[in-house]
Amino acid sequence: MILTDTQHALRETAAAFAAEHLEPNALRWDQTKHFPVDVLRKAAQLGMGGICVAEDVGGSGLGRLDSAVIFEALATGCPSIAAYLSIHNMVTSMIDRYGDAAQRARFVPALCSMEHLASYCLTEPGAGSDAAALSTRARREGASYILDGVKQFISGAGAADIYVVLARTGGPGPKGISAFVVDRATPGLSFGPNETKMGWNAQPTRQVILDGARIPADRRLGPEGGGFAVAMSALDGGRLNISACSLGGAQAALGKAVRHLLEREAFGAKLADAQALRFRLADMRTGLEAARTLLWRAAAALDAGERDATPLCAMAKRFVTDTGFEVANQALQLHGGYGYLSEYGLEKIVRDLRVHQILEGTNEIMRVIVSRSMLAAAQ
Ligand SMILES: Cc1cc2nc3c(=O)[nH]c(=O)nc-3n(C[C@H](O)[C@H](O)[C@H](O)COP(=O)(O)OP(=O)(O)OC[C@H]3O[C@@H](n4cnc5c(N)ncnc54)[C@H](O)[C@@H]3O)c2cc1C
Repeated sequence: MILTDTQHALRETAAAFAAEHLEPNALRWDQTKHFPVDVLRKAAQLGMGGICVAEDVGGSGLGRLDSAVIFEALATGCPSIAAYLSIHNMVTSMIDRYGDAAQRARFVPALCSMEHLASYCLTEPGAGSDAAALSTRARREGASYILDGVKQFISGAGAADIYVVLARTGGPGPKGISAFVVDRATPGLSFGPNETKMGWNAQPTRQVILDGARIPADRRLGPEGGGFAVAMSALDGGRLNISACSLGGAQAALGKAVRHLLEREAFGAKLADAQALRFRLADMRTGLEAARTLLWRAAAALDAGERDATPLCAMAKRFVTDTGFEVANQALQLHGGYGYLSEYGLEKIVRDLRVHQILEGTNEIMRVIVSRSMLAAAQ
């Protein structure tokens, strides 16, 4: 697939932003657990707060392939910040796409400018992969809904202003779930402590606790019982963006490995002279090119509304995040002991990329989605 001139320009803009604002600070943010909201707002000034969002509410009106190109470039500077931005974009797109006119006008412009940040609240302590088993309840009372429950592992929580919360308004299973836009100022909304994590340290992860949180009934996103479909369709694009973040992180790690092999000497020669290591580089590059090709294919399928878009997004998420992690880990190995030291930047990339194999649906669940679609098509 050949990128257009516009897509090349988007990539260059995002790469320049990553080089100037993300890469020089990424290690410090990781070590100090700093969430750089000011830098996110700078990215929003370039249109990255609402990449696939319609222009009438402040979005950039771009497609999924454009978005994949942007997130890959951003993640070369810091996968953790790029990944939070991808979650923010997912939530903003959900409100743009499924919100009514009043909700779009009220919430989306401030999300596109990142004056407001967003969080996506699906997972619960008792419902992760089996998200349709969630137990947070939303009870209708007159012109309000009252929400009770706990959301687990919520990216951006505490710092975000807008929470899209999936909660049960009906019976068991996916058809009993609705989506709601919850403001941080809502009485009854609180947060757990910032989790101590392996990676993604430059963004907070907390529980979101809803204890009698009363919201106006007009904050429901889409029809009652339609929330699970909204949440799942948003994840198609979210999975592409997270994959792009793996690709960008791995590409940066590979670049470091190439430079290291050219500089480092052992046994009287450059490491780059060892054919076994050259072949390793070749395989790493080939893996990333294959991953990028599948990612772009899935993004183009989502842009075109192909029937197979959801399983293609799942295939891309599984393959790209596995390949990205493997390549980053190999790049660390090629640095020997230096790869294990923070200052070389490799171990942070490996730690950041590891979680991409787990969230937005684990890579096992991606296989569930792909195989289910294959078997359904054959029946
Ligand atoms: C840093 C971080 C940030 C996150 N951010 C968010 C967020 O912003 N919003 C949000 O809603 N969630 C978020 N999550 C949650 C994430 O999406 C879940 O952790 C993930 O979906 C897995 O759920 P679980 O942790 O409950 O694992 P479980 O569902 O308990 O799974 C445990 C293991 O069993 C496997 N497994 C489960 N069912 C099957 C099956 N049927 N077939 C094969 N294998 C299976 C899984 O693949 C996994 O390996 C985040 C998680 C982390 C770690």
